[in-house]
Amino acid sequence: MEKVLVTGGAGFIGSHFVKRLLHADDIAEVTVLDALTYAGHIENLGEAFLSPKLRFVHGNILDADLVDDLLSRHTAVVHLAAESHVDRSFFEAGAFLSTNVLGTQTLADAAARHGVTKFVHVSTDEVYGPLPEGYADEDAPVRPTVPYAASKAAGDFVALSYFHTYDVPVCVTRSSNNYGPYQHPEKIIPLFVTRLLQGLPVTIHGQGRHVRNWLHVEDNCAGIELVLRDGIPGEVYNIGGGTDFTTRELTDVLLGVCGAGWDRVSYIPDRRSNDLRYSMVWDKIANGLGYSPTHDIMQGIADTAEWYRRNPDRWAPLMRNPYAPAATVEVTAPAEEGTGVR
Ligand code: NAD
Repeated sequence: MEKVLVTGGAGFIGSHFVKRLLHADDIAEVTVLDALTYAGHIENLGEAFLSPKLRFVHGNILDADLVDDLLSRHTAVVHLAAESHVDRSFFEAGAFLSTNVLGTQTLADAAARHGVTKFVHVSTDEVYGPLPEGYADEDAPVRPTVPYAASKAAGDFVALSYFHTYDVPVCVTRSSNNYGPYQHPEKIIPLFVTRLLQGLPVTIHGQGRHVRNWLHVEDNCAGIELVLRDGIPGEVYNIGGGTDFTTRELTDVLLGVCGAGWDRVSYIPDRRSNDLRYSMVWDKIANGLGYSPTHDIMQGIADTAEWYRRNPDRWAPLMRNPYAPAATVEVTAPAEEGTGVR
């Protein structure tokens, strides 16, 4: 019976993953380690606290003593804790490098000391950088262009180096853009939905031609669990299978589900380093581990918008918090709410 440490379990993807893992009979214990940064919310775990298998530790992955103690009592790690918002990484790159690289090293050090059955480092397709055409497989060059993606790529390499150097059974997952309930409203889908629901305008960077692959968060979590159980140590697994949308196409869908028109949309100059297109293949996890995403994009986005419509108590306070860091204020101020694609 595995005892799994999930870092970042109070965040968007982590909270979905924890709820999924708690349903597995062969998982004895799930401990969430989360610093509850502006992006982490204990409420995201909600009903999961009904499970006697769940423990919550409020702490930082950079705290080596805490991490060492936790790893001595767990058999596997799924590492999702990160600074995750690209736009913030332009202003706070140090925090990204600290958490995403040194935090990963702190966890990997403890895993090397205590031994684990699996260490899954959850990463992103953004590490491959922009692909004007074609698709990245797991052997494609890693060419990040923004501080967020660079910090994730560095975290990938640090984690994998512990496989080669210390035999820590590390796997890396790289997924495309996730969507679904519980995402912080600074990210494009919840940002647009919550603004449109309030009758506010939205803005698109540049021409809105940037392409991202949108994957339901539960499909990503299914892929992460497969890698936790059956991933081959030392391997990287792309997790895709969502739908490619330009920002304009995505906006059109969001306007539709919110009952708003294009008169609510304006264009602002493009942000720095806004990669034109990410794209990757995910045959390896499909053929090797039986991954098969199940969510329909139109239904998934409609359900996501409905969740935001029904739960303003979950996002309105985040948009009004006077103590939020400057980037949040900038992102949520009505006159200049433009955001990058993620
Ligand atoms: P998120 O920002 O919603 O959640 C991150 C969580 O990590 C928060 O709960 C936060 O409190 C916690 N955290 C941050 N710094 C910490 C620290 N130093 N110590 C402990 N906890 C800390 O992020 P998300 O969207 O859920 O992403 C989760 C992971 O998946 C990240 O590693 C991200 O890079 C990766 N990823 C995300 C996407 C996406 O579309 N959201 C796509 C691909 C990969």
